[in-house]
Formats: sequence, structure tokens, C-alpha cells
Amino acid sequence: MTSLPLIPVDPDAPGARRAAMPPQHLADLDLAGRKALVTELGEPAFRAGQVSTHYFGRLVRDPALMTDLPAASRERLADQLLPRLLNPVRELACDEGATRKALWRLHDGSLVESVLMGYPDRITVCISSQAGCGMACPFCATGQAGLTRNLSTAEIVDQAVYLAGVAASGVVAGSPPRLSHVVFMGMGEPLANYNRVVAAIRRLVAPAPEGLGLSQRHITVSTVGLVPAIHRLASEDLSVTLALSLHAPDDELRDELVPVNQRWKVSEVLDAAWAYAARTGRRVSIEYAMIKDVNDQPWRADLLGRLLAGKLAHVNLIPLNPTPGSRWDASPKPVEREFVRRLRDAGVSTTVRDTRGREIDGACGQLAAAEDTGTDPAGESSA
Ligand code: SAH
Repeated sequence: MTSLPLIPVDPDAPGARRAAMPPQHLADLDLAGRKALVTELGEPAFRAGQVSTHYFGRLVRDPALMTDLPAASRERLADQLLPRLLNPVRELACDEGATRKALWRLHDGSLVESVLMGYPDRITVCISSQAGCGMACPFCATGQAGLTRNLSTAEIVDQAVYLAGVAASGVVAGSPPRLSHVVFMGMGEPLANYNRVVAAIRRLVAPAPEGLGLSQRHITVSTVGLVPAIHRLASEDLSVTLALSLHAPDDELRDELVPVNQRWKVSEVLDAAWAYAARTGRRVSIEYAMIKDVNDQPWRADLLGRLLAGKLAHVNLIPLNPTPGSRWDASPKPVEREFVRRLRDAGVSTTVRDTRGREIDGACGQLAAAEDTGTDPAGESSA
């Protein structure tokens, strides 16, 4: 059995690893905070709004294009408000350009990834909340290397803003040019970086120039199930979608697949999910990676069906994306179909997630910043 990982639910708690955070950026602050900062720099407060409009409203980050700012203060304002946080190392595309993965190097050399997925009616970006992850789920590539550090609020937001700019450039053929959905399903456990993730959500949903102006219900926070943090999230005045990575309906197996289950059991984590649903009115998404001969038995489908029947829940089955060296494989399609059938017979709404980005290692659980190990992410097609 895997040992219990250390869980710094509050990154600022004693014992949480202190790591080199990046320079402050305007997306770390709300508009009032930006005005105060600009005033300290000896500029009129309204310049904060001007720079924010460029960044969030027009998706412009090059000071040379900010011609409404006096030339003398442009560079200085940009240095202070828009330091470069994400250095693109590589961008890969697949699915005829509809899926694009970006690998970024952060100021301290850490690597993180984000994925953009274009659909006929929307564009979704999948963003990272930590460099690495401390949750140690054995089937997830990110979990294997452990946690490097929490991302700052602006490092989280900037992934979405940057990819909103990519979307706006029109390169995602067959999709609207506007980013509409954000999922916290990249690297890291978002609720283990709670304060920064909630601040990032506030920036994503605030209308421009304060933020990106996305709809709250178009934002999904995915968690292994840190129960106190789920309760805390329910008490924020946000109604984002909660996704719970369940992966097993019984404690014996979930203790192994999602080691944090050794601390908060299936019944506790589901109770927290139902409390979240009751408080926000939002249907909870139950994530379940289908792993051949591990969690895909008909009896587990029936048990899951009994746990979820009558609840405000939707099951999202994810065909396992095997990670390098993994002893596990995806369930065969007939097994998957039977699992779906049993859940639906129990009255539980269920869908199977499409596996976007597999050939660029950009699918769920594959984000591992391969640059680190020198492997070429495009070289190992798993499609
Ligand atoms: N830490 C968060 C968010 C990141 S992972 C969480 O665990 O929810 C986003 C989703 O991908 C989670 O449901 C995760 O369990 C799933 N996932 C991880 N590795 C996977 C893999 N190899 N195949 C399929 N899904 C995987």
C-alpha cells in the first residue's frame, strides 16, 4: 500500500514547502490592488485599468502595442505589472490543430503544461495549479515526480490568458475564437494550493478589465477530494463546477488509487461533494478512470450506481491513458460499455470522455513535463 502523502492543504501553513515564487504580476491583484501599486509607482491610478484592459480585455502583453500609455512609462509599467511568467518551451498540436499543448518554463526552471481543446461550440483550456503534484496517484504521470511548488495566482491565470490569445488568433480551425471554458485538470492538486487557485478563479470570472470575464459555471475545479477544502470552496460565493476524482467506489481500492483516501474515506468525500452540490446547486462531476481488471468490474459499477443514485451527480468515465512504465491499461470497450449500462440502469447520468491529445501526451494524467527527462513527448504515440 502506498504511504500517506504529506498534504499541505494550506500552502502557507507551517511545514508547507517554501519555494521560490515568481515576481508579482497584475493578475495576482484585484483591480483595487493594481491601482494602489500603480499609485506607489508615481503613476495615476487609472493606468492600472489601462494596462489591465490590454492584458485581460485585448489579450495584449507587448508594451510597444500599448499606445494609449505615455511612451515614457510604458516599459516601467509593463516591467512592474506584466513580468514574463511563462516562457514557452514548446507547443504541440494534434487532432488537426484542435488540440494544442503548451510546455512552459517558469522563472525558477520548473516546467508546467497547459492544453487547449477546440470544439465546434467552445474552446476549453486545461490548466495547471502546481508544478508537479504531491498526491501520488499511481496511475497519473504528474503524480510520479512529486510536488515541486505551488504556482502563483498569476502563473495560473496567465496560462488561460495566453491560450485565450492563441484562440483569438483564429488558429483553432472549426472553433469559435473565444476561450469559454477552463478546467483545473492539468498538473497539480488545485485544492492543495487553495488561496491562489480561488484568487485565480476570481480573476478568470471578473469582467474585463479586472479579469477575463468567463462564466463561473464554465470553470471546473478537479480534486482528489481534500474534504475540508471542498467545504471551504462551497462557502465561497462562487458556483464553479466541482469534479471529484473518485476512481473507485470502495475504500480498499481507492486507498491505493487515490492515496489521500487513507485520510478521507469514500463516504466522507462523497458527503462533502453532496454538500457542495446543495450549497451551489451545481451538479458534481464524478471522474472515474477505467483501468482494466482494476476498477472496471460490474460489481463496482453497481456499487457506484448505488452511491450516486438520486444525487446531483454526473459520471465522467475516462479511458485510462497508460503512463510510461505503468502496469495498468485501459479497460476494453465492451467492459466500458457494460459499466456505462449499469450506471445508467441505476439512474446515474454517465458519459465517456473523449481522449483528446493522447498522441502529444496531452491527455488526462499524461502531463509530466517531459522536457525534464529529455524524452520527446511527440515521439511516443499512445493513440
Ligand atoms: N489533482 C486533480 C486534478 C488533476 S488530474 C485531480 O486529481 O482531480 C485531472 C483528472 O485526470 C483526474 O480525474 C485524474 O484522476 C485523471 N487522471 C490522472 N491520470 C490519468 C490517466 N493516466 N488516465 C486517465 N485519467 C487520469
